[in-house]
Order: sequence, then C-alpha cells, then structure tokens
Amino acid sequence: MNMMNLHNVEFIKSAASAGAFIRDGRPNIVFSGKSNVGKSSVINCLLNRKNFARVGAQPGKTVHINYFLVDKAAYFTDLPGYGFAKVSKAERDRWGALMEAFFAEPGLITLGIMIVDARHKPTADDVTMAAWFKETGCPMVIVANKLDKLAKREIEGNMAVIRATLALDESAVLIPFSAEKRTGREQLLAEITRFV
Ligand code: GDP
Repeated sequence: MNMMNLHNVEFIKSAASAGAFIRDGRPNIVFSGKSNVGKSSVINCLLNRKNFARVGAQPGKTVHINYFLVDKAAYFTDLPGYGFAKVSKAERDRWGALMEAFFAEPGLITLGIMIVDARHKPTADDVTMAAWFKETGCPMVIVANKLDKLAKREIEGNMAVIRATLALDESAVLIPFSAEKRTGREQLLAEITRFV
C-alpha cells in the first residue's frame, strides 16, 4: 500500500482484441466513461501530465484499450469511450465485441473507475457500463467530473441523482471531481492506492 511514483509512467500498448489483453498479475485500474466526459483529462490529472492519455481522441480511432504502467506496479487501463452519436455500426460492433471480451474474462479488473458528468443524470449507456462493472464483482469508484461547471448548491442533489440512477450500493465510492481544477484528485489517488 505504498504511494506510487506517478512520475514513472510508461505507455505499454493498445489492445484491439482479447489476444492483446495484458494478463501479468499486476493490478488493473480500469477507467471507463462516455466520449467527451473527460476520461483522458482525469487520467492526465492523476498522472500530472498534459497530454499523456490523449485528450479529444477522434471517433473512429478509439476502439482499443490503452495500457499505461504506473511505477512498474499497476496498470491504468483506459477503455474506449462510448456514446458517440455519429459512429458507424461497424465501429459500434467493434466496441461491443471488445467490451464483451474484456468484461467476460475474469481477473482483468482490480478496480473499476467510471467517469460520469457531474452536471447530468447518467445516460442509459452509463447505466449499462455500471452494470457490467458490477457483474464482475470488482470494487468501483464513480468519478463525477466537470464539477467546476456546477454551482455549489447543485452538488449534493446531482450526486444523489448519480447514485440513484447508477443504483450504487453504499460501498461504492462517489467522488465529485474536476480534472480542470484538480478537485478530488487526492481522494481518487487514495482509493486507487488501496488496490496497488
Ligand atoms: P474524453 O473523450 O472522455 O477523453 O474527454 P477529454 O479528456 O478529451 O475532455 C473532453 C473535453 O472536456 C475537453 O474539452 C476537456 O478540456 C473538457 N474537460 C475535461 N475535464 C474537465 C473538467 O473537469 N472541467 C471542465 N470544465 N472541462 C473539462
């Protein structure tokens, strides 16, 4: 349970099919979220990088799983974003097949981190993604990103809506977060460190 050295980060690979998933016994911290929710920004915020996980990745180029090795101790595993309105059926199918393979295989997820938008009720896709994580039985952290766009008085109500919509049980941790302002960063790192 040591604090990781976040300066020591290597991009390992992009996996486009199950054959390329990493299975080396290291903990896997798995990040998921709809496109544009700020998933890359959250990962970059954690790693103190500007552009390590790619911000604003193009639709059509994102159907792979990116593996980052942190301090040789744990992977930050970046799942492809979902919910783009304008993707082809072929691309949606590729996404579905890759996610199905990933979530069906035991042992690939140590901690699931789902990133949602603090401003909005989670989408149907978010609900599905949360259900997939729950089915694996892995512990989960929900990151409600873009908190800086909310007024203080809105925060509590929005967090309650997120908890209810995703049907989170009490053990699930929900962290109000802003990648832009770095709000919640220490709390999220503390949660991750419990599993590394
Ligand atoms: P991804 O597609 O989920 O990886 O999302 P990105 O990290 O590329 O971010 C999408 C957009 O949201 C970019 O314009 C970011 O600058 C912006 N963004 C990300 N996080 C925050 C945040 O905490 N606050 C605000 N205001 N904007 C954010």
